[in-house]
Amino acid sequence: MSTITTTEEQQVIGNVPKQLYIGGEWRDGGEGTLPVEDPSTGETLCDVADASIEDAEAALDAAVAAGPDFAAYPPRERGEILRRAFEAIVARQDELALLMTLEMGKPLGESRAEILYAADFLRWFAEEAVRINGRFAVAPNGQSRLLTMKQPVGPCLLITPWNFPLAMGTRKVGPAIAAGCTMVVKPAQQTPLSMLMLASILEQAGLPGGVLNLVTASSSSRTMAPLIADPRLRKLSFTGSTEVGRTLMAQASQNLLRLSMELGGNAPFIVFEDADFDAAVDGAVIAKMRNVGEACTAANRFHVAAPIAKEFSERLAARLAVMKLGRGTEDGVEVGPLIDGTQRDKVAELVDDAVERGATVLTGGSAGEGPGYFYDATVLADVPDGSRLLREEIFGPVAPVKSFETEAEAIAAANDTEYGLVSYVFTRDIKRALRVVEQLETGMVGLNQGLVSNPAAPFGGVKRSGFGREGGPEGIAEYLATKYVAINMDQG
Ligand code: NAP
Repeated sequence: MSTITTTEEQQVIGNVPKQLYIGGEWRDGGEGTLPVEDPSTGETLCDVADASIEDAEAALDAAVAAGPDFAAYPPRERGEILRRAFEAIVARQDELALLMTLEMGKPLGESRAEILYAADFLRWFAEEAVRINGRFAVAPNGQSRLLTMKQPVGPCLLITPWNFPLAMGTRKVGPAIAAGCTMVVKPAQQTPLSMLMLASILEQAGLPGGVLNLVTASSSSRTMAPLIADPRLRKLSFTGSTEVGRTLMAQASQNLLRLSMELGGNAPFIVFEDADFDAAVDGAVIAKMRNVGEACTAANRFHVAAPIAKEFSERLAARLAVMKLGRGTEDGVEVGPLIDGTQRDKVAELVDDAVERGATVLTGGSAGEGPGYFYDATVLADVPDGSRLLREEIFGPVAPVKSFETEAEAIAAANDTEYGLVSYVFTRDIKRALRVVEQLETGMVGLNQGLVSNPAAPFGGVKRSGFGREGGPEGIAEYLATKYVAINMDQG
């Protein structure tokens, strides 16, 4: 039985401003509008503004114009704006969660968790805004003095993906505001509504016009390229696929922009024989099924010690088999739709490839019924080497399990990927834990836990998962430039 009425859904959609937000004004897009779809039905939820190149340039003009005043804005005031926005998001979490479920598909409980996670970045960076410090030192020869100061890098372009429609925005917008940067934000065209609400909430929280400018567009490449090439832009922060990240990095090289690249993942989940078995299964469910598997941090491959691999696969399959598939607004649903038909077809293709090579389907293995882009929660055992889903980012609710004989084999298999975002390790042996963690080629490790995301921690990858960190004290450093002043102390 659905607990959410159509009227409630319409109200939530109706509350979202659908225009571009530029220089503190809401205005129409030069290219008309673009539709936003409900992935659980394939139907259009509403239309939002479709920006032209001129609109995108106007957004950068506004960010550049607002730059000097905002850089000089009292840090406490910047923090207070973020704090008020944090409180408003928490107060409106039910409305925002429903909105997110409608545009992105994930179950309401997961949307609520993302809303709170997203808000927490604003709280964290509200606290960081007043802790931006330089240093003072006596030069080693005792003669001059060395002063360093931290200043905002300047106008930023922030591009975000659809899978975490709000949190991927707040972990860029929060530190940018805290640091005193102005910005142009471009959310994914599939999920612009949560970010439009964020712009509106920040406006109500007192953010001066021009500091944050939001552009929604049906052609991101056409509208963003001129901004990336504009010499007034100072930084590009991108979260999305490795493929697009590479393209943007090439474009940004012409302008020598500061870059943060949060790209794709292919997380290994390693379970040793000495692990707490129940905790490993619990961790596996979280690491795999959070966000319907559409997370850069999603466990992509399960490497399990041979003596426990069969039992682990069966226990995981039993847990996933009872997870209810359906529209994210419905009671009890734990697996929502994938974002679109392309994504669902890619997941099906990867599963079919593994099965053709000899993998065994323990549960799931096919697309869901009816309209919308559903795919069953799936566990595959005995996945052969060479299967595409061991190398490619699955981005869906599919768990391939492979066994290993030795610790060295597990580490080698875990590192056998171009990606390096996160890995998960389950063991009760502290020496083994540290030994393995030190050798894993990832920016983050979940040790005996299936979730690493935390606003107080530095989120980010190595290898082709990108570079730069979001969250923690490292998160604000990405938006600050260091200026060094050499002070002459000569007497005469
Ligand atoms: P995507 O296709 O790379 O798109 C991401 C964003 O870039 C969207 O806003 C997109 O706009 C825009 N974009 C695409 N091509 C562009 C271009 N030529 N110029 C300027 N902007 C462009 O990624 P996605 O499918 O939305 O997201 C899934 C990917 O994100 C996965 O690979 C996932 O692992 C990664 N991800 C990484 C992290 C992390 O922190 N490492 C976090 C979340 C997701 P349009 O919507 O208009 O295409």
